[in-house]
Amino acid sequence: MKSPEMPRQAVFEMLEEFEHEKIIFCHDKRIGLKAVIAVHDTTLGPAIGGVRMLPYRSEQEAVSDVLRLSKAMTYKAAISGVNLGGGTAVIIGDNNTEKTEVILRRLGQFVEELNGNFIASLDVGTTSKDMEYIRMETKHVVGLPKSLGGSGDTAPFTARGVFLGMKAAVKEVYGTDSMAGRTVAVQGTGKVGEHLVALLRDANAKVYVSDIAPDRMVYVANKYGANPVANVNLFDLDFDIYAPCALGGTVNHHTINRMKCKIIAGSANNQLADEVVNGEELMEKDIIFAPDFLINAGGLLSAYSEIAGYSAVRTASLTENIYEATREVIKKSKAERIPTHLSAKRIAEDRMEQIGKIK
Ligand code: NAD
Repeated sequence: MKSPEMPRQAVFEMLEEFEHEKIIFCHDKRIGLKAVIAVHDTTLGPAIGGVRMLPYRSEQEAVSDVLRLSKAMTYKAAISGVNLGGGTAVIIGDNNTEKTEVILRRLGQFVEELNGNFIASLDVGTTSKDMEYIRMETKHVVGLPKSLGGSGDTAPFTARGVFLGMKAAVKEVYGTDSMAGRTVAVQGTGKVGEHLVALLRDANAKVYVSDIAPDRMVYVANKYGANPVANVNLFDLDFDIYAPCALGGTVNHHTINRMKCKIIAGSANNQLADEVVNGEELMEKDIIFAPDFLINAGGLLSAYSEIAGYSAVRTASLTENIYEATREVIKKSKAERIPTHLSAKRIAEDRMEQIGKIK
């Protein structure tokens, strides 16, 4: 997988702006490990975050990525109501050809040196098997296979959270949160998309599905009685809710102009291509955006539950909170006339400030 295109903000500028607690450069020449661990904020608890392995084009790009992702995790944990902070680890290298047991175990030793301030988890380029290697050197790791007390696939919880966030937005727009008769376009029929389609069809919603992988799209459409549609034609259709479950950045100036829907609620991370501009554009068009970092927190909630000894029942009950949390975010956004992602951030910041007072 290629590394993502990074904004060109200088690293020290970002450090000043983001106010990270700790950044560790993990280097071991003997085995060729180059990694960075960023602990953004531990006000609410230990910083949790994925271990991402990508062939970054430059070290600056890797640092930029780790700083942004770890800050985003702080907000995600805070708005989700769990006692965790935000962190991230990135390993510079090709996850297909350069990922080895020794690289992962050495990273585990660096994680161990942080004494529980950072808890490693899965991200792009790492798997449960990799977490097993990290576990050989530290107990501060989650995302383990089920056989080792881990949660296994988190997609069902993520989809459930998205479904609940969607229902909260539906309640705001239509006065009832029933999905019967609503029309939803699910873009991306992967692990989360498929579970979401199942939930929607169970609730008698009409569903369109699109995917760049036509076989996958047709498989999901046939299995659940949804209507397949080519990706490029998606916004020509009339539907009530757009559910981006593939990639980030699909809510942008161009797509917003074409949108006729009333709600956006999906699992993809960073759906708004430009938070400030697109947030305002959505408000102007009266489209409710259920913030991605709130409603896709099922994976984080699984990880949280794993720390105390994994329980699917506990994860499910934590996930149910997403409905009320989304209602609160929408209410605040309307009251203060601010975009929903901003209202979610303010709620998260307020929680950190309040809890910070008693720490
Ligand atoms: P996945 O890889 O299983 O599925 C993604 C699907 O999107 C694939 O079927 C792929 O073919 C399709 N796709 C890719 N590019 C596309 C495009 N341009 N247009 C339409 N379809 C496209 O991933 P997933 O686990 O289902 O996750 C979906 C999204 O949700 C990702 O953005 C992921 O980061 C995010 N997310 C997932 C979880 C989780 O628990 N799995 C948690 C939080 C966020």
